[in-house]
Amino acid sequence: MNDPTVKGWCPGAYRPMMSGDGLIIRVRPRSGRLSAAQTLGLCDIARTHANGLIDLTNRANLQLRGVDEGKHQAVLDALLALDLLDETPEIEARRNIIVAPLRQADSLSERLADALTSRLGDLPPLPAKFGFAIDADGARQLENAPADIRIEAAPCGLIVRADGSPLGQAVTPDTAIDAVLTLARWFQTSKTNDIRRMAPHLAATPLPHCFACETTGARARALTPGKIKAGQIYGASFGSLPAADLAGLVEKSNATAMIVTPFRQFLLLDAQPTTTPFITQSDDARLNIDACTGAPACPAASIATRDVANAIAPHLSGQTLHVSGCAKGCARPRPADVVLVGNDGAFDLVQNGHPWDVPTLCGLTLEQAVKEIGPR
Ligand code: SF4
Repeated sequence: MNDPTVKGWCPGAYRPMMSGDGLIIRVRPRSGRLSAAQTLGLCDIARTHANGLIDLTNRANLQLRGVDEGKHQAVLDALLALDLLDETPEIEARRNIIVAPLRQADSLSERLADALTSRLGDLPPLPAKFGFAIDADGARQLENAPADIRIEAAPCGLIVRADGSPLGQAVTPDTAIDAVLTLARWFQTSKTNDIRRMAPHLAATPLPHCFACETTGARARALTPGKIKAGQIYGASFGSLPAADLAGLVEKSNATAMIVTPFRQFLLLDAQPTTTPFITQSDDARLNIDACTGAPACPAASIATRDVANAIAPHLSGQTLHVSGCAKGCARPRPADVVLVGNDGAFDLVQNGHPWDVPTLCGLTLEQAVKEIGPR
């Protein structure tokens, strides 16, 4: 097993990342939205040039894996034809923006996302994973999505908030983007070289005094699969979408667009009920299980994480499970009730924690791990 390497950057379409099974190419749909035609086109790319699967990422992007290096240009050409490619690699790298998935069309969140996108060139140089969440229409939907600067609805009105602080700066729709840029510049000039994210920076550095607005506004109910007024929300085991299944669902349901969420779920707008292998019930046990790509695709892994997760699933009784190929824990930033971490082909067990926490038991076989978790 190789050591897990913290890359410190996210792959894009222009700048893919090499993995054990070929290139990883990440597609960043604008505001997390694809038309039905774009969705079908991306499914086609996944089947033609990649491994046939499309991954949902925790930043509401879509990821292709297993792309041969020689096919990278063909993928770029196809993404350009679908209008799913940014103008330049620099803009793509900076456009780390998550938008509240259940906003209405032409909502304030969408307008602010467009405004921020048009000002990306005004941002200072920021660490590669630095990102933005726009959650400006009522109850907050993105509290558990990764971001460093957030625009949110709050009791005092619209605010800009630094991740890691409970206080925000009151803004209007017209001043919000300027406030975001000012906060980004403050971060860049006040941080030390080893700091890459806002929350750890705030642990040692107080915010400017203008951040004084309470942010105890309402939180939206956690997103779950099911029918909603705008269409149908679907879940995906491990956040993995077989492209053939997705294309079939879009066509059969007559969906008009797809909204990608950071929660391993996606919304098909105007979708009509139809049969599908995706998760459609909010109590489906698969929603409680996270597993990273694992072996053989990831060179840091020594276990086939998703096979292991499927084998353990029947033995769970309501616990959350995270199966991680190594201690890096790519699949789930939050703690889980049960965590199994691959270690030279065996399993380390962490209870109520993260893969990088100290395990309570080490070197277990799969059978031993199942016994520890307990039969249902
Ligand atoms: S957590 Fe999984 S996907 Fe991430 S580096 Fe480790 S083995 Fe690879």
